[in-house]
Amino acid sequence: MKVLVINAGSSSLKYQLLDTGNQEVLAKGLCERIGIDGKFTYKAPGKGAVDAADVVMPTHSEAIQTVLNALVDPDHGVIASMSEIDAVGHRVVHGGETFANSVKIDDKVMAALDECIPLAPLHNPANITGIKACAAVMGPNVPQVAVFDTAFHQTIPPVAYTYALPYEYYEQDKVRRYGFHGTSHKYVSQRAADMLGKPIDSLKLISCHLGNGSSVTAIDGGKSVDTSMGFTPLAGVPMGTRSGDLDAGILEYIMNKHNLDITQMLNVLNKQSGVLGVSGVSSDFRDLSEAGESGNQRAALAVDMFNYSVKKLIGAYAAAMGGVDAIIFTAGVGENSAEQRMAIAGQLEFMGVKLDPDANNVRGKEAIISAIDSKVKVLLIPTNEELMIALDTAELA
Ligand code: ADP
Repeated sequence: MKVLVINAGSSSLKYQLLDTGNQEVLAKGLCERIGIDGKFTYKAPGKGAVDAADVVMPTHSEAIQTVLNALVDPDHGVIASMSEIDAVGHRVVHGGETFANSVKIDDKVMAALDECIPLAPLHNPANITGIKACAAVMGPNVPQVAVFDTAFHQTIPPVAYTYALPYEYYEQDKVRRYGFHGTSHKYVSQRAADMLGKPIDSLKLISCHLGNGSSVTAIDGGKSVDTSMGFTPLAGVPMGTRSGDLDAGILEYIMNKHNLDITQMLNVLNKQSGVLGVSGVSSDFRDLSEAGESGNQRAALAVDMFNYSVKKLIGAYAAAMGGVDAIIFTAGVGENSAEQRMAIAGQLEFMGVKLDPDANNVRGKEAIISAIDSKVKVLLIPTNEELMIALDTAELA
């Protein structure tokens, strides 16, 4: 089945055309600056590439049309006509409590998606725009599926998702832990079961998605049972620019001292905090290691804080699940930084985790990086959210 995977942002649209049969990526790319001065990139292995500026893309509909034109282009295209696209899979950030699984889109689903907008006011409207644009350009006969960042975490029990706030905020306003990166955590947990040759329902896994945004998830028997992000993706470990967990009492103190309103305060927490805020150098972990190595103590502190908070969550989730069979590292940092994997999981021998420094000296490919005699396996698994979206889409379309 050929599935077009779409990740629509407010002025961008990431796409991939995948063949779910052999799991091959036929073409992928990005529309950027939609509604501004349209930038378009396209790459089809063995066929060619496009990198174009000033492409007329006033709305997401023209962006989708540009993607389709490239896919059927006689020169660098990968399909003869649009009718070869069997279905479209959309990444949707927030499915609230309504969506515990991916879903085939119809009018009822569209109405329910609208109801989720208040939960993710920055992201969901863009995702919905992407869905409407595909329907407009491709017609009603191409099935569309929504795959949610939150859905995998809907199995988290109340004890882990309820905030200790007046209960009405949950009942009336749906304030609770939702968690994000669900598609990634689901994908790597399934791959982990395959790599270990064990049924997923027999495994206790801790999945560490460590990138620019980071989250750690406890997965018991294939089901998410706790995760570090919360009502929004601001919670959990410190990230590139997000603070992660902090004492809410700090907000009033800083807002009063620096005369900030809540919008400015949230901008600080989302955009100026995390490892960028602590280091004053960069949100990019590569820059931070470099700066740390050349003696920048704040850069070193930022990386240490990040590693420490991931390590603490591993301990917490092992306790929560009553054990752990495997720890998974994925996303930019998890897939590439042997040093940070060692800093996070290198001193957990007391709980049966023994990294093998040689096996850990690897990047970007599936590998078992724990020692042969390690009770708890440690796995490096490159994430592939697009493939997971395509597979869910193929199943439902
Ligand atoms: P996003 O959340 O934007 O998808 P990624 O998963 O691509 O993020 O992760 C980006 C992060 O991964 C950046 O901070 C980058 O520095 C980090 N990263 C990539 N390669 C390395 C590496 N070799 N060593 C350390 N960090 C790396």
